[in-house]
Amino acid sequence: MSTSSAPVPTRPLTLPTTEPGRRVTFVPPRPRARTSRRVRRRRLALGAVAVAGAVALGASVIGALAGSSGLQLPPMPPVFPGTVFTPSVDDGFIEDGVQVSLWDDDLPAISRLNPELLAAMRAAEARAADDGIRLGVTSGWRSAAYQQWLLDDRIASVGEETARAYVATPEQSRHVSGDAIDIGPVDAQYWLISYGSEFGICQTYGNEPWHFELATTPGSECPPMRTDANG
Ligand SMILES: [Zn+2]
Repeated sequence: MSTSSAPVPTRPLTLPTTEPGRRVTFVPPRPRARTSRRVRRRRLALGAVAVAGAVALGASVIGALAGSSGLQLPPMPPVFPGTVFTPSVDDGFIEDGVQVSLWDDDLPAISRLNPELLAAMRAAEARAADDGIRLGVTSGWRSAAYQQWLLDDRIASVGEETARAYVATPEQSRHVSGDAIDIGPVDAQYWLISYGSEFGICQTYGNEPWHFELATTPGSECPPMRTDANG
C-alpha cells in the first residue's frame, strides 16, 4: 500500500482567482533545515526558562505596584480567541463568484455607493443592454473593516508587495468612500472600458480591468490610469 502524499510544488504557481482577470502567484515555502533533536531539546528548555522568568518578573512588578500604592488593579480584559472579523452583507460583502445587480438597493454594497456613480452606472447599463451586455457588480461600497480584512487576507496569501498592488488601505480605498465599483463578466468590462467615458466612467488602475470610477465629464476622455492601487 502506498503512503505517498501529494507532491509539494517546488516552483511558483500562478493560478486564476474568482475575480475576472486576477491571478495570484503561490510561492511554495522553502523546506526548513532540519534541526537535531538535541538542539531542539536545548531550545525548548531555554524557551521554558525564558517564559518562566518573564512570568515571574511580570508578577513581581504587578505585585510591587499594587503593594506600594494600594492600587486596585482592574480585572484583565477577557480574551476571546475565536472572535475574528468576518465581513457581512452590512459591510458590503458580496461572495466570491457572485454578481449582483445595479438595482439591488437592499444591499449596502449598492445603496451606499456615491449616488452620482450609481446613476452613471445605471445609465451605462441601459446602453450596454442594447448591445446585449449585462453589467454585473462583483464589489461596490465596502466598510473600512471589510477593506482592512481584505488587505490582511491578501497579504497573508500573496505577500505584502503583491497585496498592496491590488488592495488599498481603508483610508485610501475608493470602495470605502463609495466611489468605486467592480464589474464583471469580462465582456462587460470591455464594454465599459470602450464606452464608459460617455457616462464619465473610467478604468482607473492599469492592473484592474474590473475596477471603475467616475473620473471624467461625460463624453470626455478618461485620465491616464494609475499603475495599480499602490501607485
Ligand atoms: Zn475595485
